[in-house]
This record gives sequence, C-alpha cells and structure tokens, in this order.
Amino acid sequence: MKIYTRLMLAAFSLLLITSCSKKAPVEPVEFYSHNMFIKLDVENQSATFSDKGLIEVNKGFNYFYINETANISKFQIKTKDYDIYYLSDSTYFDADTFKIDSLNIAIEPIPKTTLIGFNCDTTGKFAYFMTYDATFDDDVEDVRFSNENVGREVDGTISEKGAYLSPSSYFYPQGKEDTINFKVLANIPLSWQSVADGNRKKEYDENGRRNQTWENPLVNDGLMFMAAPYVVLDTTIDYYRVACYFFAEDSSLMRDYLTASVDYIDMYNDMIGPYPYNSFIVAENFFPTGYGMPGWTLLGQQVIRLPFIKSTSLGHEVLHNWWGNSMFVDYERGNWCEAAAVYGADYHYKLQQSDDAAKAYRKDILKQYVSYVNDGNDFPLREFTSRTSADTRTIGYNKGMMVYHMIEEEIGSEPFWQAWKNIYKEYVKQRVSWEEWIDHFERASGEMLPHVIPQWIDRAGAPQIAVSQAKRTGTVVSFTLSDLSKDEYTLQVPVRFTGGYGVYDTTVNFDKTEFTYQLGVPEGTLAMEIDPDYNLFRKLYDDEVEPIVAAVLGYENHLYAVNDNKSMEADYLAKFASGVGDEDINIMNIVSAKTDSTSSIIFLNPSDLPDFFNEKVDEVDGIVNINGEVFDLNEHTVVLSGSEFGDCKKSMVILSKNLESLERIGQLVPHYGKYSYLVFKGARNVAKGQWEITESPLRVVL
Ligand SMILES: [Zn+2]
Repeated sequence: MKIYTRLMLAAFSLLLITSCSKKAPVEPVEFYSHNMFIKLDVENQSATFSDKGLIEVNKGFNYFYINETANISKFQIKTKDYDIYYLSDSTYFDADTFKIDSLNIAIEPIPKTTLIGFNCDTTGKFAYFMTYDATFDDDVEDVRFSNENVGREVDGTISEKGAYLSPSSYFYPQGKEDTINFKVLANIPLSWQSVADGNRKKEYDENGRRNQTWENPLVNDGLMFMAAPYVVLDTTIDYYRVACYFFAEDSSLMRDYLTASVDYIDMYNDMIGPYPYNSFIVAENFFPTGYGMPGWTLLGQQVIRLPFIKSTSLGHEVLHNWWGNSMFVDYERGNWCEAAAVYGADYHYKLQQSDDAAKAYRKDILKQYVSYVNDGNDFPLREFTSRTSADTRTIGYNKGMMVYHMIEEEIGSEPFWQAWKNIYKEYVKQRVSWEEWIDHFERASGEMLPHVIPQWIDRAGAPQIAVSQAKRTGTVVSFTLSDLSKDEYTLQVPVRFTGGYGVYDTTVNFDKTEFTYQLGVPEGTLAMEIDPDYNLFRKLYDDEVEPIVAAVLGYENHLYAVNDNKSMEADYLAKFASGVGDEDINIMNIVSAKTDSTSSIIFLNPSDLPDFFNEKVDEVDGIVNINGEVFDLNEHTVVLSGSEFGDCKKSMVILSKNLESLERIGQLVPHYGKYSYLVFKGARNVAKGQWEITESPLRVVL
C-alpha cells in the first residue's frame, strides 16, 4: 500500500480560489527538490531541520504549507533573506472566510498545518534555503490497521520508541508540486537507525550522534521518514542490500523476513525488470502500519508477528517498488497499482501453491464483492484512488485483480507476462493508467481488447450470469445464457461438461444480454456448469456463498447479544466488539434481541445454538466438533459464521470460556474475513475453514 498521493490530493481538493478575484488565481509555490537535514531531539519530541532545493515562485504574493508547530528561523530565495508571515494567525488572514484581505483571494487551510506567506520580487525557479524546528507528538495508542479496516492514521511522532514522520505531518514544506526529488541527511542517536526512501548513501558517527544519508534516484510524491533503536540483519545481493530493521524483542523473526525479501526481489527482477534501488529494508513500527515506500516497507509490530505476513503482504509491498513507486499511477485516470500488486503478489502466490488455492482465492474475491459492495457504494475502477474501507478495497484491489486475470485468460499467459516487462521498460519513471496497460496487452498478444475499458474500468457493477433451457439431444447440448445485470458485457464464458468420460471444458463468447448456444459434446455427457472455477468477475448467487466472517462483518451495523446482558459475558462481548472496531456498543439479551435486515448479529455463548450452527457443528459438554475436528472449549475459543437469525441475514456465534482473550480476538477476526469458522487457543489462531456448499444455480443436470 502506498499513501502519499491520497494525502496530496486531499491537500489540493481543499484549495479554494475565489472566482471573484480579478487577479490571476493564486496557487501555492511549487517545490522541485528537497535536500533535507533532520536532527532528532528525542527528549523534546521535536526535530530541527534545514532544507534546500529548487522552488518556483511568482512575483508578489506566494504561500506554502508546513507543520503547524513549525517555527521558521530562516527563509531565503537566491541567498536573499525573506520575511515570512504565519498567515493562519495573522491579521492578513480571516480564518472564517479564508480570505487574505489585501489580495482578495481565498485559501482554505489544511488541518494541522500552518500557511506561510511571503512576497517575492521576481518570478521563476530559484534555489531556496530554510531552517526550522517542529514538534511531533501524535498519540499512537489506539491506532488500528487491518485488511478490512483502515483506522486513524498517525501523521508524525517522536519518542524514545522511535521517530515517524509521514508526508501528512508536513515535516517538510509543501506547495502544489506533484512529484519531487528527495535527499535526506538524518542526525539521530548513536544507537538508532534511520530509513527513508530510495538509496542508502553514506553513514558516519560524529560527536556521539549517527549520521545517515538517503537519496531517491526517482521522483516521488512524498517522503516518509522513520528512525528507531533497531537491531539490524542484512545481506548484499549483486548491487542491492536487503535488510531487516526490527526491535530487539522481535529479532528472532528477522532471518525469515530477510530470506523471504531476497526471494521476492529475485522473483520480480525476472517477472518485470531490475530492482530500481540499491537497498530494500523491512522496518518494524511501534504502532500499526502497513505501508510500502520506495526501497522499504514499514510494518507494525502486531502485523510483523502475524505468521502469514511473510507469505502475503511482504511480497505485495516488495512488488510496489515496481508498480507504484517506480512506474507511477496517473491518479486522474484511476489507480491500477493495487490491482497489479495483488495480481503479481497475493494471487500469484496462490497460483504457485495450486490451482485449487487460486480458484478459492478468486471465489473469495467474488464473495467479498457481494458481502461488501452494493448499489449504494459501488463505483467504477476508474474512480479508485486508495483504500479507505472494505468496499473501496474490494473494488480497487480485487475487482482490479480480476480484470488482470480475465485479460490473462483471454490473451494467454505468455503475451500477458511479456506485457508486464514491456510496459515497465517503456514507462518506468512515468505515470500510466489502464489505457497504457491495455495497449501493451494488445501489442504483446496481437489481440484487440476494446471491451475492457468500457465495461470493467469505466462502469460500476458486474454481470450476473444465468443458464436456462439446457437440454441434451445425443451429443448436442443447447442452453441459453442471460446476464441479469442487462449491462451488456463481452465475456469469454467457461462451460464445463461432465460425464462418464470425465471433464470437457470449453468457452463461449457472450456479448449479448441473452443468447442461445448449441454445442457438440462428448458422448455420455450428464451435466454442465457455467464458470465452475470462478474465472469471471461476476455477481455470485446467494446459494454460491457459504457464510463467512467477511459477510457478517460486511454489515455496517453489528448487533450483539448474550444470555444475560448484566453478566460479565456482556462486558467481554463489548470488548470483542471494540476490538472489531465498533463504537456505541449495545449488548442485548438473546431472548428479547431485536433484529433488522440492515444489521448482522453476533452472539457470545448462547445457551442454544441457532439452527444454522446446529447443522454445521456438534457441541456436547463443552466439546465442539467442526468438520470432524474436535476442540475443547476449556482451551479454545470458537468463532462461527452463519446465515439468518430473525431479520438479520448473517449471524456469528462465539463460544469461549477464555473471556480475557476476546478483545484481542476481536482485533484479529477481521484478518480472517474469508473463513466460515475460526478456532483460537488464547489469542492464537489454530484452525480455520469454510463450510462446504454443494448447490449452484449455474450447475445443470442434462
Ligand atoms: Zn498495495
């Protein structure tokens, strides 16, 4: 995941320039480069900075944004000292109308920044130099981060645990620039290590302090900086160094992270092109984050300790060094880079595992689409900029990933992967969008793909395929396909026939809302199924979806119930609820629970299991049997997803005697969205799985 651009876009959307001004619209200055010196003062939670580079200014009034606590001691352009004005609290500036009196312009301030104005006697691009200090003391407690939730984000903080400065803390001055060159010299405590974007350059210790320099060889749309008392494990491969910067208590995890990182870089070197930096660092954070920056990734301590991160998120973040951090996203035309990262990482690892794992992954994506996305929140991929919620993630990451998959199915794997190399070679250091990708897929394969952009990128929604009037006469089967969305998609629809001979797979071209086919089939054909392996991005039927955690938590509103809401169990269920991320929690009594169709319901230790659960599990005297595996509730907490209860369409049952673990389990459960049931020992997941489903409206006996 990449964060910078969202922040910059937010900054620009806040800029208001009144139309009544007779003067030319006044925009902020533009910074072209930052060559920064950052000296951390851990004790005072502050830092002193000097910054020089190129700035573009206009004759007359100019302004930029910087951290609200910044105290600027020097500001020079072309070595000439300039007076600056803290507009946010000056008499020039009316905070209610955002107006600067004398200029008849309006500028809306950005929260937690201060507006700095100055009058310039010339127009053009010049060298600037400034010195300032600022305080960074964001509270890092209570920060949440998971696949399904992106909670409050920290902008900047400095403490003895570490220093974290993100672009949204405005620790460097910002104007209207889009991408920019960064160099950093960090002056930090002797026992600390720093990380910033791009290449690690020099390092030297002097006067009891450590100095480290960083330089991004490519432009970037923001700079992230981190420093902390890290333990380091590293290795050098060819021209690049791979390293883990972890806290001492997690140093035993470093070896595996290092090996995995080396393997990932190796894989993407072959798949796309040479790794674009001289170092890659996996850095641990002291509060939850999951960010990928040029040449490094910053993973929160809780995240780094999750056993599956090495085989999933780590590779995804490594891949962003190509997709997003060295071939950039043209956000105006839609963010493709998360879809490409999921396709080349998360999904690719499933394919490497087995065809069945890849099929299950695709089905999970389709299930998430019906769980998290509805007519009210659906939007075209073109409009995706970054994930802010489960529904934006489902579209931007997962629908996008399926678009890549459908293209690979349509043009074949060899040209598909050739196009990955070709587009990188042509567009490294440039911004691209879906058009450039489609162009490269067409050029590599010789196939035309005119339907992809209109139906998958520019339009919201998904087809819902139905099959009817299927019958077999000898070795000919006729059937009608219809698309219930009526939106007219061009699809290559997989059709599978089965019989005594085994399996016969074919595809039909479907570009109407309804069409009748006649196909020759092998003798002895007994049944047919449409898209049995979930190769199309399509809307699943309810019958195709087993209850899963994501479907229960996908409801914006969750109801909670226990046998007695005055009991301790109610308090612990409330803790589970806050772990999940809910606020304003009200725990009901099960017997009098009011249900409604816009909520899902979650029970703790109900005295009787609701019907659905009774069909799936056996519970006798505290021993639960799930899919043939037996768990003792004295040692285990069981989380089960189910279907209707009252007016709620989805429900969940938690069986637990270890009530203290429920808060942590609540935090973990959203990470396991695709599963029907979860079993925890303490707060450690020890078993998980999905309920079997056997029915599908797309399966027909002939
Ligand atoms: Zn990502």
